[in-house]
Order: sequence, then structure tokens, then C-alpha cells
Amino acid sequence: MSDVPTDRPLVVIANRLPVGKTDDGWKASAGGLVTALRPVIEQTGGAWIGWDDDAASVPRNVEGLACDLHAVALSRAQVRGYYHGFSNRTVWPLFHDLVAQPVIDRSWWRAYSEVNTHFAEVVADVVKKMPTPPLLWVQDYHLMLLPEMLRSRCPDSPLGFFLHIPFPPPELVARLPWRNQLLEGLLAADAVGFHTRHYRDNFVRSVQQLYTGVSALGDTLALPDGRHVRAVAHPISIDVDEFSELAVADETEAELAELREQFAGRRIFLGVDRLDYTKGIRHRLESIQLLLERNPALRREVAFIQIAVPSRDDVKEYRELRTEVETEVGRINGRFTEPGHDVPVHYLYRGVSRAKLAAYYRLADVMCVTPLKDGMNLVAKEFVTCQAAAGGDGVLLLSEFAGALLEFGHDPVRCNPFDIEGMSYLMEAALDLEADDRRARLRRLAEAVRSWDVFRWVNGQLAEIERSSRRP
Ligand code: UDP
Repeated sequence: MSDVPTDRPLVVIANRLPVGKTDDGWKASAGGLVTALRPVIEQTGGAWIGWDDDAASVPRNVEGLACDLHAVALSRAQVRGYYHGFSNRTVWPLFHDLVAQPVIDRSWWRAYSEVNTHFAEVVADVVKKMPTPPLLWVQDYHLMLLPEMLRSRCPDSPLGFFLHIPFPPPELVARLPWRNQLLEGLLAADAVGFHTRHYRDNFVRSVQQLYTGVSALGDTLALPDGRHVRAVAHPISIDVDEFSELAVADETEAELAELREQFAGRRIFLGVDRLDYTKGIRHRLESIQLLLERNPALRREVAFIQIAVPSRDDVKEYRELRTEVETEVGRINGRFTEPGHDVPVHYLYRGVSRAKLAAYYRLADVMCVTPLKDGMNLVAKEFVTCQAAAGGDGVLLLSEFAGALLEFGHDPVRCNPFDIEGMSYLMEAALDLEADDRRARLRRLAEAVRSWDVFRWVNGQLAEIERSSRRP
């Protein structure tokens, strides 16, 4: 990553800081965004601004991450309204096509505006102390009002926004009492990025419904006040080299050897998801149940491993989902475990180490990525990269509602997760694909990921923000 498309310092503003407290002190967290931004921030110098529960004790710098950290402190009431409320119970379900009912609550909206304003003040303060105006890059749905609030406070800075979740069709945006404020918030940026052209088009159509006289010329929106905003589709991705190395690292091989012993004689279906209702875990389990009902022999020949990473367990819908998933796992194992044989469903409610995750990716015969709606889905990209690095031939079963589908064409086995019975037949079909076909599909999928890795995503976005900020 040599040619950073900006010579300004970069200031990233996100809900959270890219660090966490460990037994050995504060450390940079492992994640796609940090991996991608680290080289840019190190080359240009810059800062990261985000909320932390323990804001007062966050150090200004941590080892391995050469940027200034600025922690935003929020009160418990603000966190309740802004984060648990408006972000996760209003915007999240609405933007994921109503897979759960969004809650409309004016007090949450007030907290969201208040917290966005607080972020804007912190950003302005940081920018004031920098020798040159930095490029400001705001991340995700927690901070959609921020571009407008920063426009007046930091007029000399190029300003970008990236949405990491889907952008829904205008009919759904229209339900939100504060839809105009959110769209106006975003439109103050020089460039607004989305994972896919569908989400970008939904945004453009929503803007056109709000304002008369907006024209879209390619990726550029010309607004009635004469401003131009770039609305671009740039899918986020992974660090392909890092995952390729991890896939064949000694630690991964050791984990894989253990797993192979544990699951000897079984073909493996794998699911790796945060325990979120958008991920379609319940639907997937129902399909597994139908599959095992129809094919008694498979009860001894396959294993379904579900890694469910704990998520938002202080939200009612997430606690209920956990109960439903765990009841379903119990029901399937109760029905289909044969005397003297292992259970068909292995359920892990926890996160696993990087090496273990890579080992599971390599172990899988069929990776089930079957969300009801998902902005992108990095798990799918990590799976094909790890498999390809080790010469594997695993099959990707991919939902038609995952953002990754557009990049992958027809090489995954594509499924509609709402069609439980149909998905159960596709699981069978995935097991039955010929080895040559599986290998060829996997190779093409891995090439697609390699051709647009996370560094291209960062460079593409920064270049758009710079270029667009220079327009009148
Ligand atoms: N992941 C993790 N620990 C685990 C399992 C998964 O850190 O035990 C990571 C995984 O490597 C991936 C991310 O969680 O990078 C999930 O990203 P994705 O885009 O698939 O879904 P999201 O959780 O962002 O909705």
C-alpha cells in the first residue's frame, strides 16, 4: 500500500476506538478497518476519535497503532438512547429491511442528535490543534448527522462518510420521522460510500424523493444549492495476504489437526456469525432439520458447526434470539442423535481465536453464509481466502441477501434463506458438487476477493473524498 491518495493527515471518526483493554494493557484490536487504515494513518499521521466506556483511561497512543486516540465520553443515558436505542433498535432493523420491527422513540432520537453534536465538538477541537486541515472520514450508521455538523465546524477539511450496513429502499427510509435530517446529515459529506450499487441507488432515490431538482450524473449528485456529492459503491474487503498466511500458519495447522480428529468421518457444514437476527441462524437450523429428516444416513455422516459470537446481549431481541437458537439446537440434537454417535449440531456460543477460526474455515465442506440481510459479510471472503490458500475445495452457500453476492456472481451456491425447504435441498446439492467444479468455483471466488482487497477499498474511498472536495 504505497500510493496513499491524500497527503493530508487522516482523522477517522467511528462509534468505537480501535483499541481494547487486555490483561497486558491497551492493545490495537484486530479488525478489517484497523488493518486497512493503519498503513494510511502511519504514512500521513492522524487521529481516531470514538466512544469508549472507560474514556478517561484510554491512552493517547497504543503500541502498534501510530495514531492519536481521542476517546469520547458518554453518559449512561446517552449510551442507552444513542447506541442501544436509536442505532441498534431503530436504524439497524429498518436498514436491514425490517427483519425485526424498528422502534420509534423520540427520546432516543434526541440522544442520537445530542451524541452526534458531542462528537462534532470533540472532532472540531482535535482539528483545531492540527497544523494542516485533515481529511475527515466518518464511519457508519451511528454518526449519520455528523457530516453536516462538521461541515460548518471544519470548513477546510475534505469530508467523507462510509455506511457499513445496507441502505434500504426509499419506501422504508420514509417511515422514519427524522429521515430528512439523516439524509441532510449525509449529504453534507463530499463523498458518501456504500458497499454495493444497490445500496447506493437506494440512497440516491431517497434523496431524489426528498428534494426536487436533484440530478444524478453517474456517481455524482448535483444538489439544488449547487453542491456536488459523490455517492459511490465500494465494497469493503479483507487483508488477503494476512488471511492467506494465517490459513497455513503452524498454529492453524495444529488446530485443524485436532478438529479433523474430532470430526473424523463427517462432512462439515459451518456457520460463523455474530448472534444477530439478521444472520438467518434460525432459518438455517430449520433447513438442517429438514435435511436430516429427509436423509437418515446423513445424521451420522455430516456435522453442522455453528459459531455464534455473543452480540448486544443487553438488547431484548438478542436475548430472545439466543433462547430460540439454543432451543432449536437442542431439538435437532434430541431428535437426530443416534445411539453411539456424536450429535449432528455443534453449537459454540463464543468467539474463537484467529487460528481456530481459520482452522474451522479450512475444515468446512460447505460454508453457510445465509443472512436474511447483510451489508457485506466478511466471513464469506475470509472463508474463500483461507480455503484457496490451502488448496481446498469448500463450497460457499451464500444468501441472495448478502452484500457479497454482487461480487461473487454465480460461483457460490446461491440461496434464499426465507425458503427453508429450498435451502435444505441446496445444502444437499452443495455436498454433491463434483470436486473439479468445487475447486474451480473456489479459485474464482478467491480471485474475486484478491482483486478488490481492503487496501483498494481504503484507497478508493480516500481518492473519492479528495477529488470530490476539490469540486466547486
Ligand atoms: N470473527 C471474530 N471472532 C470470531 C468469529 C468471527 O472476530 O470468533 C470476525 C470474522 O473474522 C469477521 C467478523 O467477525 O471479520 C464478522 O464480520 P462480518 O462482516 O461477516 O459480519 P458483522 O459481524 O460485521 O455483521
